[in-house]
Amino acid sequence: MRARIAQAAVAAGRAPETVALLAVSKQQPAERIREARTAGQRAFGENYVQEALAKMDALGDLDLEWHLVGPLQSNKTRLAAERFDWVQTVASERIAERLAAQRPAARGPLEVLVQVNVSGEASKSGVAPQAAAALARAVAQLPNLRLRGLMAIPEPGDPARRRAQFRRLRELFAALVREGLALDTLSMGMSEDMELAIAEGATMVRVGTAIFGPRPAAARRPSAPQPSAETSGAP
Ligand SMILES: *Cc1c(COP(=O)(O)O)cnc(C)c1O
Repeated sequence: MRARIAQAAVAAGRAPETVALLAVSKQQPAERIREARTAGQRAFGENYVQEALAKMDALGDLDLEWHLVGPLQSNKTRLAAERFDWVQTVASERIAERLAAQRPAARGPLEVLVQVNVSGEASKSGVAPQAAAALARAVAQLPNLRLRGLMAIPEPGDPARRRAQFRRLRELFAALVREGLALDTLSMGMSEDMELAIAEGATMVRVGTAIFGPRPAAARRPSAPQPSAETSGAP
């Protein structure tokens, strides 16, 4: 995966070290994370708070960085603020305020990204692109949070459309940097489309399947929001 990232970066005229790899370990057992850590991977992404906490507890002996990449409901903000290092899915001021109030001071600021719904699909979470700048400015003011940038999941399918959505996120990001926000993270691109995202300026790609293989179906939870709905645009 690192070779694939490096190749995509060089093809885009970028230095390989400008693209960070987040290993998305949702629905994968803790032991797979341990193996990946042994192979040098430190940052892991999880979609469900409860599932992540169990893995954090099982892997407490390792030096890991945990990112929440699934939608965050208000009844889970306290656990997210206490246990995660990053929350990539801040999509409202209300959730950001709760995270700011609930982040334990001893843990230092929570690193956050504003998730932008670049495809406009009703099934996707994230703030509308027109509202993203205002939300980012508000989040940047909150104590105990450090706004690092933006995150998006584009519409699957047509690569040209995906690429246009990645570009839109990059343009929003660049506009915020121009107005003076100290942002350094543009989180976009997954197993299928990381090359496109890197060509459009991604500084962090979130990769699950291409690292761990297919997610085990048995671990899926029918009652929880499904990642397939989040990535396929199904209602
Ligand atoms: C599942 C997921 C990923 C990883 O997807 P793959 O296609 O398995 O690489 C990345 N980002 C988010 C938000 C996800 O939910």
